Amino acid sequence: MRIITILILMIVVVLNGCSQTIPESEVVITTAASVAVTVETTEQATAIESVTLAFITQAPQSNDNDNYNWALQLINSRNPLPAGYIPELAWIGSYNGSNREFDARAANYVLLLLQAARDDGVNLLLTSSYRRVVRQDENFRDWFQMLVTQGYSRERAFEMTAREIAVPGTSEHNAGLAVDFNYRTDTEHTFDRTAEFAWLRDNAHRFGFILRYPNGKTHITGISYEPWHWRFVGVENAAKIRESGLTLEEYVGVCAGDDSVVTAFRQQLISR
Ligand SMILES: [Zn+2]
Repeated sequence: MRIITILILMIVVVLNGCSQTIPESEVVITTAASVAVTVETTEQATAIESVTLAFITQAPQSNDNDNYNWALQLINSRNPLPAGYIPELAWIGSYNGSNREFDARAANYVLLLLQAARDDGVNLLLTSSYRRVVRQDENFRDWFQMLVTQGYSRERAFEMTAREIAVPGTSEHNAGLAVDFNYRTDTEHTFDRTAEFAWLRDNAHRFGFILRYPNGKTHITGISYEPWHWRFVGVENAAKIRESGLTLEEYVGVCAGDDSVVTAFRQQLISR
């Protein structure tokens, strides 16, 4: 069993496109593998079972036998989504009158999470989930233009915008695998002081979600601390990642990747 788990993790790393020789990440992978095999807790098994049971009518069959490799896809500035990528989507709720959608393979997990939270008296708002790349593009350009109008140079405006908004195609929201939760509309930056956040911290992994951009991990993720942003990775992966304290980058092996998408977008915006 242990050998199988290690092998699976190794395969996951290969599947995630780390084709370059990256000796440092091998060390990390070994750590992830050893952590992974030691966290087979009863709690985790119970969580998986209860999720599976709740799925008897709606669960996509393919999910039962895979290892959620698809849910481990690393999406960041150096690992963009393929151009034109649009996931199969499913409805997970609404916010301010707008529908919220998620990758159809994982949408039920969001619904189960929301239901469990409600059962515990916790009301989570779905402020953001799947976001079309076109929308991401508009958001980025709007923010960028606002800063330029305020007098920042185009180079500086790009840097500042990129810190707040992912370049189109490099956001997990574009893949439909991330949700931004909140409990009011205007409190994102203090969300980690709420009971809602505490509930997520203690329970989100049971439904396959991880805090994707933890405090103090910006040097690895490239993204500032975002207590509201939760990423679906599958129940088992979420438990292992949470237990190990690793970021997704470390868990799948840090891929150097290719920043050509970001570079091209930057060039387009800063030159007129
Ligand atoms: Zn987000």
